[in-house]
Amino acid sequence: MLKELIDKFYLDRQKDREQKHFYITDAGKCGRAVFFKFKNAPRRELDANILRLFDHGDHIHQLIMKPLLSTRDIHVVASEVNIPPQELISGRADAILSDGSDLYVLDIKSMNSMVFRNLQTPKEENVDQIQLYLHYFKIPKGILLYVNKDNQDLKEFLVNYDKARALKLLNALAELKKKIDSNLIPDRLEDYPNNWQCQYCPFRTVCDQAGPGEVSWEEFKAKVQGSGD
Ligand code: SF4
Repeated sequence: MLKELIDKFYLDRQKDREQKHFYITDAGKCGRAVFFKFKNAPRRELDANILRLFDHGDHIHQLIMKPLLSTRDIHVVASEVNIPPQELISGRADAILSDGSDLYVLDIKSMNSMVFRNLQTPKEENVDQIQLYLHYFKIPKGILLYVNKDNQDLKEFLVNYDKARALKLLNALAELKKKIDSNLIPDRLEDYPNNWQCQYCPFRTVCDQAGPGEVSWEEFKAKVQGSGD
């Protein structure tokens, strides 16, 4: 009885999630998948237990913040900080910290033991995200803190602001916005279907149906609807 109710709560939150603007987590991601998110294209539904795990990640963040808020060696300048409002993108950093001389943007990521064990360098997609936080907050240093969900072990990486990388990401998002506004489905990733993003992509079926190259969204929808008659 409770399982069904709890599953329904999480699954209902998944519905009708048409996206209106970019999130920091879209930075560096497959443009076609982000396009499909904006257009609310049919996606493979995530299981309720996976959605619960996302909520679990929020609790891990709170666990990490507790000792940081009580230590004197680091000052939490602000937590859950939104990037300054602008048209292109929105996002919220976990915290801005100070060691008394420098400021740092903190981004906390949680993962399972297997991924954690193999992590020798920060994940590229996480570096992309923190670069945009550093860019918008005008803070030159960031910390990516990884938490092993299974045993709470930690690894941290210092990331320095890379202006060229941040601008490249923002330009790519601006170009993608033009395609979203003109209903032009972007090309697939170059290494489709071997890219890791394709392995987990909720839009894999529509991506396969659309085929390679840039495709008109309206023509694609008409073709799919026609073939379903
Ligand atoms: S399957 Fe791969 S190329 Fe296609 S939308 Fe998803 S991530 Fe992009």
